[in-house]
Amino acid sequence: MLVNPEIVTMNADLHCHSTVSDGQLQPGEVAARAHANGVTMWSLTDHDQLGGQREARDAAEALGMQYLSGVEISVTWAGRTVHVVGLNVDPENQELLDGLAATRDGRAARGEAIGEALAKAGIPNAYEGALRYVADPKMISRTHFARYLVEAGLAQSTSDVFARYLGEGKPGYIGHRWAKLPDAIRWIKTAGGEPVIAHPGRYVYSQTEFAALFDEFIQLGGNAIEVVTGSHTPDQYREYADVARRYGFYASRGSDFHGAGEGRIDLGQLPPLPSDLKPVWERWL
Ligand code: AMP
Ligand code: MN
Ligand code: MN
Ligand code: MN
Repeated sequence: MLVNPEIVTMNADLHCHSTVSDGQLQPGEVAARAHANGVTMWSLTDHDQLGGQREARDAAEALGMQYLSGVEISVTWAGRTVHVVGLNVDPENQELLDGLAATRDGRAARGEAIGEALAKAGIPNAYEGALRYVADPKMISRTHFARYLVEAGLAQSTSDVFARYLGEGKPGYIGHRWAKLPDAIRWIKTAGGEPVIAHPGRYVYSQTEFAALFDEFIQLGGNAIEVVTGSHTPDQYREYADVARRYGFYASRGSDFHGAGEGRIDLGQLPPLPSDLKPVWERWL
């Protein structure tokens, strides 16, 4: 299939976060930054929460950007966390809203457990510290702990905190059961949206497990993955472009922006998708 070059190279940024989950800017501020950086099609994809969608859409449309309602669902698959982005969902669909509410349940208790684990590792009061960074305490995430640990001088950057304290197997890591993959995909599809496997390069699965993940995703009706994302290195852009070709997946592009100076890349500043891939956004133009 030949893709119109103007469509492949348009500045679509279909993955980022606001203060509604673990971002640093309010939805309207993220919209303004996306627009200032040249984004023409945008989606705010907060973790397990649609509370920012109204503000994001209103701001985007006032600025003349095309807006897709979005969400990033936390899933547990084969004992590890996978993120599934849902694009162009109906933010008022009750099955999706209920599924997300159930997925959010347990974040608060897990946050307290992370605080206790860090205390045992010699870092007291991290839960209280992390709470200072979160707008809604029920949305507490490892990102908020990471910001506090950087502030406390325990690490240079949030990614340094994950490498030393919060990543799997580190002293502050607390396992958690998120949504099941079939449920997450059903919620997204029931709400009229398109499920997209977020940043596949971040998952530490074997080749066999990756093949099983992609096969199950296809069985469940999924057919898109992120290729160019702020959570991939340029080598991973190439690796997952090959995966998209091999499986016939549509490809998505998104910065995974959380805040200025955090993460690898700003809103709208990623390179374009390789020109032979099918952009997932083509259907919404
Ligand atoms: P949680 O949902 O509480 O497990 O937190 C996951 C969030 O932590 C992700 O959405 C990212 O924003 C952030 N995160 C995960 N891994 C890293 C990393 N290696 N470096 C920086 N941030 C990360
Ligand atoms: Mn995040
Ligand atoms: Mn993610
Ligand atoms: Mn994300």
